[in-house]
Amino acid sequence: MARTSRAAPASAAEPGRDCPLCPRLVEFREEWRGAEPSWHNAPVPAFGPEDARLLIVGLAPGLRGANRTGRPFTGDYAGDLLYSTLLKFGFATGGYEARPDDGLTLTDARIVNAVRCVPPQNKPTPEEIRTCRTFLSAAVAEMPRLSAIVTLGKIAHDSTLAALGERASRLKFGHGVAGEIGGVRLFASYHCSRYNTNTGVLTPAMFHAVFGAARSYLDSL
Ligand code: SF4
Repeated sequence: MARTSRAAPASAAEPGRDCPLCPRLVEFREEWRGAEPSWHNAPVPAFGPEDARLLIVGLAPGLRGANRTGRPFTGDYAGDLLYSTLLKFGFATGGYEARPDDGLTLTDARIVNAVRCVPPQNKPTPEEIRTCRTFLSAAVAEMPRLSAIVTLGKIAHDSTLAALGERASRLKFGHGVAGEIGGVRLFASYHCSRYNTNTGVLTPAMFHAVFGAARSYLDSL
């Protein structure tokens, strides 16, 4: 799989390819650059238009998913459920083929991860989550029409609240929880990971219900 965005410049919302801020993640990144030189192996940029009204916030790149392909949720199981759901509710057009050049386009929606670099065992530390929030906050701030956010999992949810300047207690995480934060409607969902779906924690119907609610909300504005 070809790498993408190799020369992407750093910006307030997009870390540079060699962002040095999390030493443990830098070490892991370097390890995988050595092992799989054709992979992206770098911070994964946001996907979708800045003027979208919906932002979807995930946890972090999957090792063999976004970390390999360079596009959020692309190339692993979580992407199959997320992108089929976005297509179902009119937030994407084209077809999802698990590669960044599949032509899939997001419509009025954007995806970003709370932590941009792949963490070992999919588990970023609290400090790494806090450090990378700089980029999450900037990504939120650069969306002029932002009206709704779907948070995928508790870590993404709590970090999104912090990026909006609120405490986690302001809207406690739970699947299907929704609330207004600073003029933006938040919709919380369990993360669409293979583990959650295999164990029945999250069914496609439960996931669809959250995006259906976000769709209805945006259509009502
Ligand atoms: S996780 Fe975020 S802050 Fe940490 S090194 Fe990667 S891009 Fe930089």
